[in-house]
Amino acid sequence: MKEFKGQNILNFVKELPDDDACKAYLAKIKWQDGFKCMKCVSEKGCLKQDYKYHCYGCQYVEGSTANTLFYNVKFGLQKAFCIVFEMSTSSKSLSSVQVGKRYGISQTTSWFYMQKVRTALEISQKYPLSELVHVDEFTVGGKEEGKQGRSYDSKKKKAFIAVELTYKQRVKRVYIKSIDDYSCKSLTPIFEEHINTTAKIFTDKWRGYEPLKKVYDITQVKSNKGKSFKTLHIIIHQTKSWLRTMPTHVSKKHIQKYFDEFCYRINRLQSKESYSII
Ligand SMILES: [Zn+2]
Repeated sequence: MKEFKGQNILNFVKELPDDDACKAYLAKIKWQDGFKCMKCVSEKGCLKQDYKYHCYGCQYVEGSTANTLFYNVKFGLQKAFCIVFEMSTSSKSLSSVQVGKRYGISQTTSWFYMQKVRTALEISQKYPLSELVHVDEFTVGGKEEGKQGRSYDSKKKKAFIAVELTYKQRVKRVYIKSIDDYSCKSLTPIFEEHINTTAKIFTDKWRGYEPLKKVYDITQVKSNKGKSFKTLHIIIHQTKSWLRTMPTHVSKKHIQKYFDEFCYRINRLQSKESYSII
């Protein structure tokens, strides 16, 4: 079987009809370039029953799920495959309550599994923004109406957003990061990780960006109530709306995983590339 591509869940289930098919699929992808033992890096071994690889070097037996999102899944591999498929391919996310009901597992189990998937999705965000980039800060939760400027209400969760745009203002890539405050000290590591120094960056007049100008090409313009950064503000609005649809409370500790999932979906949709789940 080849690598699955596309977004059709019927085809997906047809090609992966049970747990065994999923194991076979993982084995095929994992060892397509040959076997290398995780323990002793020997390349000699053989594929045994149940899609496990037996290393001749150290006798270690490696399952096809080892070191993947599907390791030790107690509720069934095919269900896990379907959850990952749905989380990665739909433009809107499912809640853990919905997923629990849909796959006949408890809400707690689905929540923990979805958190694990979100972590994996974060790892897939590895391309720094390098051209036209708009950045801003925003808050999630708490009261927002009628307040001017940046509020420090502790119930609000602060976030930073960077959007790479085409010169026709279409979205290329997005990163959203949970942040403790908007100081230059907090902003700097996010810039270093996600924005290349080649980028042409535009932002509002917030003074926290001032010291970063030594390294980055930053132009500060008046926000004009968001009109100067229209696309960016649409994405902020979408993020907040999506988080409001979560039936469970999204704590500060976990909010980054939700941001990662949201960005992952936007970035994948924009890239218009076919997608595989591993
Ligand atoms: Zn070995």
